[in-house]
Amino acid sequence: MKKLVLVGGGHAQLSVLQTLATSRVRGVEATLITPSAHQNYSGMLPGWMAGHYTQEQCRIDLRPLAQAAGVKLVLDHVAQLDAPQRCATLASGQRVDYDVLSLDIGSGTASAALAALGDKLLPIKPLDNFFAIWPSVLARAQAQQGFHLVVVGAGAGGVEVALAARYAFSRAAPAAQVTLVAADTGLLPGHAPGVQRRVRQLAQRFGLVLHQAQASATAQGLTLSNGQVLAADCVVAATGALAAPWLAGTGLTLDDAGYVLVDAHHRSLSQPEVFAAGDTCARQDVAMARSGVHAVFAGPVLAHNLLATVSGQPLHTYQPKPRPLYLLACGPRYAVASWGDWSAQGAWVWYWKNWIDRRFMRRFSA
Ligand SMILES: Cc1cc2nc3c(=O)[nH]c(=O)nc-3n(C[C@H](O)[C@H](O)[C@H](O)COP(=O)(O)OP(=O)(O)OC[C@H]3O[C@@H](n4cnc5c(N)ncnc54)[C@H](O)[C@@H]3O)c2cc1C
Repeated sequence: MKKLVLVGGGHAQLSVLQTLATSRVRGVEATLITPSAHQNYSGMLPGWMAGHYTQEQCRIDLRPLAQAAGVKLVLDHVAQLDAPQRCATLASGQRVDYDVLSLDIGSGTASAALAALGDKLLPIKPLDNFFAIWPSVLARAQAQQGFHLVVVGAGAGGVEVALAARYAFSRAAPAAQVTLVAADTGLLPGHAPGVQRRVRQLAQRFGLVLHQAQASATAQGLTLSNGQVLAADCVVAATGALAAPWLAGTGLTLDDAGYVLVDAHHRSLSQPEVFAAGDTCARQDVAMARSGVHAVFAGPVLAHNLLATVSGQPLHTYQPKPRPLYLLACGPRYAVASWGDWSAQGAWVWYWKNWIDRRFMRRFSA
């Protein structure tokens, strides 16, 4: 029996579970280690904040998927990994040996620069924490006159969360304010000027205050490089991805930012029996954005390569699309589409996104 260990129930690992369920591989004993029985889907989080979805609709129950795949589910997280010894240590202290390992543990939020905010700080990731805390933020916005929420970071996630908060407040706490602080790099870096213009106009239309400046934190709020001081009751950090710190002690080859370096097969550069996909990996051969799209599309390749490694078959490569499609939810049932230089907006874009997201969730519902 070969021991296949899957760490993290992320987007790519869902494909691995599906492949194991349908291909009935012999000679493999598979285990999934992940902290929660539910995998939250970030694509629908802004819609949940805006009240379009229940939390139940935004999460995948991993238990039936694991059961159908014949995979043992361990609800814990990996705290250490000794890659040369092929052994993972869980938070509970349990040690798990493996022959082949698949890492899909996502990323955290790089929010250390905002730590002075103390308990006013709410990092966007981990999502489990955000889902748990957001209802209390909304309740405080309703109860406290002049409540001020600031979102720092204006990439796609920050923009969607700020607009979703603006919409949620307009319905439940009309006096509450939302401000979005984009860094010097501006609103939606990497997206076409047309997309940035559309989002800026929508932000203005919906009453979202925008600043383009570097923010530094105090216990009261934020001081911006343009001289503005923002008193804040809650600051959501959408300040970019952060690699899991424990990867540093694994013996795996990492890039400068601490992500697992992989080749086009999503195989570790240093450990041929270790694979990684999604936010936690960095491709050596191409620059790949940390987005769910790549985690999802790399999934079938990851699944093939794990089983091919067990059985000594040739591996497949994953070619990231050069221009992934982004559909940015804007609060109400309205969205902006961004695809290379092309962009569009409207209620129809939101229904298109809703259709894609719900179809994705249906693929993994029992
Ligand atoms: C608000 C928001 C909206 C977004 N919208 C989009 C979008 O529309 N389209 C898009 O392409 N991208 C979107 N993204 C980006 C997207 O969330 C990530 O790129 C995507 O989640 C990465 O998937 P993943 O499989 O790498 O990790 P994740 O989906 O984060 O899954 C990682 C899993 O690993 C588990 N885990 C973590 N640490 C451990 C450990 N030590 N041991 C075991 N398990 C562990 C976690 O609990 C989780 O289950 C959005 C992000 C945000 C914040």
